[in-house]
Amino acid sequence: MLVDRHGRQINYVRLSMTDRCNLRCNYCLPEGFTDFLPKTALLSYEEHLVHLRVLSDLGVTKLRLTGGEPFVRRDLMSFIKAISSEKLFQEIHITTNGTLINDYIADLEQLGVNGVNLSLDTFNRENFHRITGRDEFEKVLNIFHRLAESKISLKVNAVVLPGQNIPDLLELVHLTKDIDFTMRFIEEMPFNGLNETQREWWNYEKLLHYFSEHVALSPIPTAHSSTSMMYQVPGYKGKIGIIAAQSRSFCGTCNRLRIGPKGDIRSCLYGTSTNGLKELIRSEASQSELIKFFEEVVSAKPKDGFIAEKSMLQANTNHATMAAIGG
Ligand code: SAM
Repeated sequence: MLVDRHGRQINYVRLSMTDRCNLRCNYCLPEGFTDFLPKTALLSYEEHLVHLRVLSDLGVTKLRLTGGEPFVRRDLMSFIKAISSEKLFQEIHITTNGTLINDYIADLEQLGVNGVNLSLDTFNRENFHRITGRDEFEKVLNIFHRLAESKISLKVNAVVLPGQNIPDLLELVHLTKDIDFTMRFIEEMPFNGLNETQREWWNYEKLLHYFSEHVALSPIPTAHSSTSMMYQVPGYKGKIGIIAAQSRSFCGTCNRLRIGPKGDIRSCLYGTSTNGLKELIRSEASQSELIKFFEEVVSAKPKDGFIAEKSMLQANTNHATMAAIGG
């Protein structure tokens, strides 16, 4: 088992398949960003399978594929098939913007993909275009409805963006009236590669206060290592989650490890990354060498995101884009 110095068992891995995306969300990968990884830097699917097998042996039970947009990676479905057929994890989840998955929903269901987190910050077409830089709203709306009707558990992620989507958030809450899915609102984090410090920002308390003025939200139980504070509007089918991502209220139960497209590892979203996995895999390191590598990374997991951020700033490195980290 992978257990850190603070007694937290790491059983959830988030794997960012690529730092590239077909959208240009201004809070994540803004227009004009060009500092992408060369394709040769990326781990191949076969190389990813090498470390995933080790992580599965080390007690990781949940995998999330994310990005960038995971589906811009060519033939991603073959990779999902391989993971599924080897039965490496109890749960496979995917975070996607939904624009490229139209042809795959039935296959994802059939492969036993447990959940999809769909990023959708607004149901207003113009605002969607303004935020993402692309006119893809109709496509994502259609995917939202298809996923809601599928066997795959659906969560929708909306980043709280003052000046861009605040009036639209209530509409997203009310979507849970007749549709059984989880609508999650995420505090914006300063991870769009631009080091902007002047943006207006709402924390979860401000958002809860805003919602409380318009709608009755009742707290409901939250799973142990969940990042969301959970609510429901009485009588509504779906649920509401609020993720205090920037306030970092959930580090004490963090159970995750993040692996980037080139095998760079983050034991904390706010911390620096550790390299070396790609080199180990490419030099055909033994299983025990890979286990030792993961144990060392997990052992050094910072207690919380504030401590991690401090050491990152001391190391004089900036936050990577969220597209490279995977959310
Ligand atoms: N392309 C996929 C998508 O759009 O869902 C996966 C990658 S995206 C980086 C993963 C998640 O991170 C999305 O739900 C997105 O909303 C969230 N995210 C990205 N940038 C963020 C930011 N600056 N603050 C908070 N959440 C962010």
